[in-house]
Amino acid sequence: MKFSFLLITLSFVFALQSSAQDIIKTKIGDITIQPITHGTLVLTYNNKTIYIDPYGGSEGFKDIKKPDFILITDIHGDHLNANTLDGLDTIGTQFIVPQAVADQLPEKYKDKLTILGNGQSIHRMEFYITAVPMYNLPDALDAKHTKGRGNGYIINMGGKNIYISGDTEDIVEMRNLHNIDVAFVCMNLPYTMDVYQAASAVLEFKPKIVYPYHYRGKPDFSDTKKFKDLVNKGDLKIDVRLRDWYKK
Ligand code: ZN
Repeated sequence: MKFSFLLITLSFVFALQSSAQDIIKTKIGDITIQPITHGTLVLTYNNKTIYIDPYGGSEGFKDIKKPDFILITDIHGDHLNANTLDGLDTIGTQFIVPQAVADQLPEKYKDKLTILGNGQSIHRMEFYITAVPMYNLPDALDAKHTKGRGNGYIINMGGKNIYISGDTEDIVEMRNLHNIDVAFVCMNLPYTMDVYQAASAVLEFKPKIVYPYHYRGKPDFSDTKKFKDLVNKGDLKIDVRLRDWYKK
């Protein structure tokens, strides 16, 4: 009796966990989106798995298939995280990274790398991946994120464009994006931008779906509910998806 109660409880817990995954339908198959933490997420499509900026420890990925691709945006420890990478099975994994990340990755990954600079694209399996700028404003040499060092990414899969902002402010290159189906947009101070900048940019490039991510700042988390209000005050059609990226 107790045992079956435990089973029911367990299956309820697993159902809750798997509901953390979002599904985007394409004509060809489903894309699944799984927030991991902060700026870290997993995308799957057509039986292939992409990790974006794996960070927070490999245990965050323990129930997830090993990565076919790892995309890294920048050199900081919440994006390029050697400890987390160490705990992952990266045999056969292809890494897509900017040069600055390639320069800092441990030697053992060097034969797995494809280096992409801002504006460059590649086609791998069923993915078209384009690196786009990410940087702080004003664009200055002493900025936390200098222009050209890191990559945001646009990944096209099944005809859908997924935009990963990386650490950036509301730069003109973001505002000028077109046809974005799903956007992951950072908003944390003092490293990236506030929710007003993020909402203003989102209202300009109008993704169909937007996830605030990378919103843990100093001293506080950014107010993502405020971001949602600002976006939907300007455009009710934009689906703002608030998820808990920081649950313990
Ligand atoms: Zn960051």
